[in-house]
Amino acid sequence: MTTFRAGTPDEHADVIVRPWHSAAGASAFVRRRGFLARAGQVVAEPAESGRGVLLNVGLGPADTLTPAVLREAAAVATRALGPARTVRMDLAVPVGGRLAPDDRVHAVAEGARLALYRYDAYRSSQGLPPPAEVRITGADPGALAEALAAADGTCLARDLVNAPACELTPTVFADRVAAAAAEAGLAHTVHREAELERLGLAGLAAVGRGSSEPPRYVECVYEPDGPAALTVALIGKGVTFDSGGLSLKPSGELHTMKADMGGAAAVVGAVLALPRLGLPLRVRAHLPLAENMPDGGALRVGDVVRHRDGTSTEVTHTDNEGRVLLADVLSLASEPGRADVVIDVATLTSAAGHALGTRTGAVFSPDDALADLLVEAGQRAGESLWRLPLLAHERRHLRSAVADRVNCSHRRGDSVQAALFLADFVTPGTRWAHLDVAAPVWNDESAYGEVPHGATGFGVRTLLEALRALAADVQN
Ligand code: MN
Ligand code: MN
Repeated sequence: MTTFRAGTPDEHADVIVRPWHSAAGASAFVRRRGFLARAGQVVAEPAESGRGVLLNVGLGPADTLTPAVLREAAAVATRALGPARTVRMDLAVPVGGRLAPDDRVHAVAEGARLALYRYDAYRSSQGLPPPAEVRITGADPGALAEALAAADGTCLARDLVNAPACELTPTVFADRVAAAAAEAGLAHTVHREAELERLGLAGLAAVGRGSSEPPRYVECVYEPDGPAALTVALIGKGVTFDSGGLSLKPSGELHTMKADMGGAAAVVGAVLALPRLGLPLRVRAHLPLAENMPDGGALRVGDVVRHRDGTSTEVTHTDNEGRVLLADVLSLASEPGRADVVIDVATLTSAAGHALGTRTGAVFSPDDALADLLVEAGQRAGESLWRLPLLAHERRHLRSAVADRVNCSHRRGDSVQAALFLADFVTPGTRWAHLDVAAPVWNDESAYGEVPHGATGFGVRTLLEALRALAADVQN
């Protein structure tokens, strides 16, 4: 585990990372090797001290520098170490340009921390250890602490998503959240199977019944030290493995289905970071956790679920379990007086990925300001989000012959229909947004920038930026 600290430059570091806006000041050695200080360019040379390595990292011109360029440069430099045995690395924050100093520190620290992430829990050989210490030189310690809180939350979410489903059952997931919440000083409750009925979480109970692993429902609350400016509910879909149920998925689509709890992981990563950030709002996390399996208790196609709001859903496809289990949680979280804003994060539909590609999440909301706030929060966080519309005419595909709605219509536009389905359960008057993150929580390709192969931790930093923006809105 690498320790990050703010510090002053020290020529005795094993690796010194030096950022450049222009190659003019760099050594003749690296300029001869083609170093032009272009964004993303990295050229190494022996450090002036004679020991260690100086990594020259290009940023491009100072006036076009963005957090994304800086985050990626820090990540590329950190990764460029390759198999070198590094004890201490100095990473300099660039000076000048239009970016605020805190934004520069955030980008550098996040890029480095996120690029150093490894998931080695199951490997018999661990390889060379990561650097023991990374010193972010020229960083304000407060800004560094904020950046690390967000990055640590992202790495926690990655660990949860990378964990195999045989290990991370709903029970284990709930216990881990409870232990981490206790350590962070957050109030929390784990509801067991028998309590789901009392709470009216019929959809969660119905989906969980098809597995020998019982479902869980976890609530966790962050209370600010001072008065809360507002209350935000974060709901995360936590299907620890999605086989599709009796509407079994084809085998080619099963191998990433341990990631179907990526929404819950993002909510956990964000909420556990909050005590370190001290934002002046109350945040309630709601985590419906279940495994979608096809055993003798499983939902049958054609079964009807009676929801806590008195309406019913005909289950016409058991692989559309996400909206069924989220429905009652949305209605519970948005009960009058419980939350001013409700945001759900769910790996809900593959259609969102078909529309937007694998690196972008979809935002749905009837609230223009909230949708814009989330897309902009994603931009600042380095996570790509795009708003899709809640097209009212698509609602016709939710009609059922026997119940108030179906959970699947087998027609195009599934992301929109899923969002319309969820919208029905939100108490009118509550601000609500839905993030469909089925594609970006998992990176099937090789690593890029600060994003590793496998679990990405997508959503944690967007949620934290969105909470910051919501708190600022109320205070202004
Ligand atoms: Mn499914
Ligand atoms: Mn699913």
